[in-house]
Amino acid sequence: MDSMWLEIILNTRSEELDAVSATLIANGVPGLVVEEEEEFRTFLEENRQYWDYVDDELMEQMKGVSRIKLYVTDDEDGKKQLASYLEGVDIPYTSVRLREYDWAHSWQKYYRPLAIGEKLYIIPEWERDTADVPAGCTTLVMNPGLTFGTGSHASTQLCLEGIESFVIPGRPVLDLGCGSGILAIASLLLGASHATGVDIDPKAVDVAYENAALNDLGKDRCRFLAGNVIADRSLVEELAQVQAPLVLANIVADVIIPLAPVVPRLLAEDGTFLCSGIIDKRGDEVAATLEKSGLTVIRRFEKNGWVALAAQVR
Ligand code: SAH
Repeated sequence: MDSMWLEIILNTRSEELDAVSATLIANGVPGLVVEEEEEFRTFLEENRQYWDYVDDELMEQMKGVSRIKLYVTDDEDGKKQLASYLEGVDIPYTSVRLREYDWAHSWQKYYRPLAIGEKLYIIPEWERDTADVPAGCTTLVMNPGLTFGTGSHASTQLCLEGIESFVIPGRPVLDLGCGSGILAIASLLLGASHATGVDIDPKAVDVAYENAALNDLGKDRCRFLAGNVIADRSLVEELAQVQAPLVLANIVADVIIPLAPVVPRLLAEDGTFLCSGIIDKRGDEVAATLEKSGLTVIRRFEKNGWVALAAQVR
């Protein structure tokens, strides 16, 4: 049976948050979740390069929030532990019961098989034996874990549709900001000879290899690396060796713009750069930067407020 857990929520005043956290840690609490409006704003500001907008609803949820969450098992041991954790912490708390399975897997229920474009059919790993695959589709099995790239985001879908048009069977691809590896894997399943994926998040490397293996693709067909495609020159030089006829970058406008000048070096002659993750109001700005970098935008795709651009070297 699943274990049951208690989520303990301590609502603190903003100015006592640090002191209460310190006491809890001194009392041996192994992990805390601190949620605070000001901290959330600072976090957003420091990580601005990763997003173009933040959901109003999320902003609203964080308004005036200042709380600490911790977890104990919902049994006698957990209750004893909680009493020792809260020693010297004189704040009332509320608790919520969580089922371990629901807690770790709650997002999975939103992830369903998905038909994309003309050819691809994405199946979550846990449904691979039960999914009803439409005839003639190429199946792509995915378990994104904690990385980005389930296939359900519009910007990923725009890229997948673009891959169907632009992948050249028997030739390599580059996937910049590979996340779960979904775009590299889709390209291989649609005939690319080899894929190289890079992500700034080191977690992505293992997850992408695991997803490739779920699709029977081994290290002879793909390579995933951790690295920053705009700051690491030697990485860019290494990627330029591939001379890929298809370079994919589903990142965000603030990364695609500084990346644009090196794209012609990465592309094989007549190659296509397919970039996505661009919120529609920034589409023209990204297109202008690509044009300035020696590329011609040949197609613009749009979905739910997101834009993808396909460009070729002039
Ligand atoms: N390719 C996947 C994931 C896209 S999300 C998909 O299409 O669904 C964008 C990814 O880009 C994230 O995994 C993020 O970690 C990565 N990323 C952001 N900035 C980067 C940079 N400068 N260099 C490399 N990867 C970056």
